[in-house]
Amino acid sequence: MKIKITLPDGAIKEYDKGASSLDIAKSISEGLARKVLAASVNGQVWDATRPLHEDAKLKLLTWDDAEGKSTFWHSSAHLMAEAVEAAFPGVKFWVGPALDKGFYYDMDLGEKKMSEEDLVLIEKKMNELAKQNNLFQRKEMPKSDALKYFTDKGDEYKLDLLSGLNDGEITFYSQGNFTDLCRGPHIPSTSFIKAIKLTSIAGAYWKGDEKNKQLTRIYGVAFPNQKELDEYLLMLEEAKKRDHRKLGKELSIFTFDDDIGQGLPLWLPNGGIIIEELERLAKETEQAGGYKRVVTPHIAKENLYVTSGHLPYYQDSMFPPMELDGTKYYLRAMNCPHHHKIFASGPRSYKDMPLRLAEYGTCYRYEQSGELFGLMRVRCLHMNDAHIYCTRAQFADEFRAVNEMYLKYFKIFGIDKYVMRLSLHDPAKLGKKYIDEPELWLETEAMVREVLIESNIPFIEVADEGAFYGPKIDVQIWSAIGREFTLATNQVDFAQGRRFKLEYTNKENAAETPLIIHRAPLGTHERFIGFLLEHYAGKFPTWLAPNQVSILPISDKFLDYGNSILQTLKNADIRVEIDDRSEKIGKKIRDAEMLKVPYMLIIGEKEMNEGIVAVRRQGIGDTGTQSIDEFITNIKKEIKERSS
Ligand SMILES: [Zn+2]
Ligand SMILES: [Zn+2]
Repeated sequence: MKIKITLPDGAIKEYDKGASSLDIAKSISEGLARKVLAASVNGQVWDATRPLHEDAKLKLLTWDDAEGKSTFWHSSAHLMAEAVEAAFPGVKFWVGPALDKGFYYDMDLGEKKMSEEDLVLIEKKMNELAKQNNLFQRKEMPKSDALKYFTDKGDEYKLDLLSGLNDGEITFYSQGNFTDLCRGPHIPSTSFIKAIKLTSIAGAYWKGDEKNKQLTRIYGVAFPNQKELDEYLLMLEEAKKRDHRKLGKELSIFTFDDDIGQGLPLWLPNGGIIIEELERLAKETEQAGGYKRVVTPHIAKENLYVTSGHLPYYQDSMFPPMELDGTKYYLRAMNCPHHHKIFASGPRSYKDMPLRLAEYGTCYRYEQSGELFGLMRVRCLHMNDAHIYCTRAQFADEFRAVNEMYLKYFKIFGIDKYVMRLSLHDPAKLGKKYIDEPELWLETEAMVREVLIESNIPFIEVADEGAFYGPKIDVQIWSAIGREFTLATNQVDFAQGRRFKLEYTNKENAAETPLIIHRAPLGTHERFIGFLLEHYAGKFPTWLAPNQVSILPISDKFLDYGNSILQTLKNADIRVEIDDRSEKIGKKIRDAEMLKVPYMLIIGEKEMNEGIVAVRRQGIGDTGTQSIDEFITNIKKEIKERSS
């Protein structure tokens, strides 16, 4: 018996029934077979070793595929569990998923505790076990057998997992001496795992509920070669130095206060300057792009969010309501409904379109306290928001212009690596997960795809991850040290217009609902400045630096001269300070370097007599002397061009 296998390039090949994806890889090339970690079979990720019994669409997954990586990491979690079981007999395991980077496993060690030294031993054991080249073996299990297995073992955790499963859904995976209840899939064998690092131990409540027992969670990461692990560890070390919480404190950017509340950052004057500069950039760019600025309140009546659909679906992420004169008011979690009301505030015709409404909007979201993280996860955020209301004919141009804006910003901030993730709908789920507009879905998805290809923007397509109301484009960017951030989404929306009964009269004098683009290229101030702190390691380019110039007199004798320069620079709109402490010049320089001030002007006898300054550039060193005018001309040019 033969089966037909369709490969990603469209080629159809015949194989014996029961051949595995790995067999198919081998028939293509041995080199490829050595790299195959898993396979996508009709869109589902399978073990590469699992036999195929029917015709299928097949994509072989390697380390270069996200699903390949996550299969690799989840398999590493099993390997870790085997090593832990060897060192801690009787340990019971809960779940061990793959993460964006790496994996963890939650476990109950009974009375025992795990130390950092244990981690080193477990890591060693994992390396040993990996070299044994043990196969990951899949076995389907009737529920009764599975129940018996874990009842005999006295494993209440796996019994709990089993309680939610039915016959036909239960599989066991074994490798070496370890067997686990698991949906899979897994990599072919342990020998693919060549480099391992267990990064930390943490406590984690069972099922995330603090009323439950606290389990031990071990985090780790693994790679198919040592080089990638070394690079990753170096990146982690660098990320620690660039931690936005640490830099935010050292550079007096933001702070938190218990009396204000968790997740509610206070922006200090230095942070305020960065915010001002970012908003100035956004305003200039948006003005040039034909946007109009609006200002809207932070709260609104319950009914607005019922219309928008935030209530009840998004209620868990909103602050609880306040009651006023018998009406409930909510702090807004998004700005969209307010902008829709501005669109609806008067009659609109095709001549008003596209209408682009922009606002740095303040939103409030209820994030659980355990989820809060510096500026990255907060409860109050300021969003570089705008909504574009346009006709179907205008959509492609509008979407293109939005993308160009993203690219312009990436260039300014030196973001070299980025990817747009285009999330599409699933036709089978129209009317349920997705608004039932089959034609609009296909039309807008095609337009978005076309624009992305035309603009040469790297992108990937993901099936069945669109938003309810239209295709979604998530923008992923990488910081200078290669860490990934999700910046913002850029969304097409053909549902909200209808929910809010937004209309314009078209050329034929008939009412039509506009398409809406939601976009926020600079994300929120919170997340973007958090990103920039890491990206620049706190060394902001001059245009963004809270303090652009420090005047450092060599001794008190030159204070008057220093103060006169101070005034001249201030008059030229340059952010400048003078270090008038009676400290040695070496210390003044060190301190200014620490604060990452882009320019230091050192002044002594010679400079005073000749009316010049000795210019020192942060992180570079002395760059010679300049006249004050010359210095001002140069720095003003640099600021105006927003060069980095
Ligand atoms: Zn598993
Ligand atoms: Zn929106």
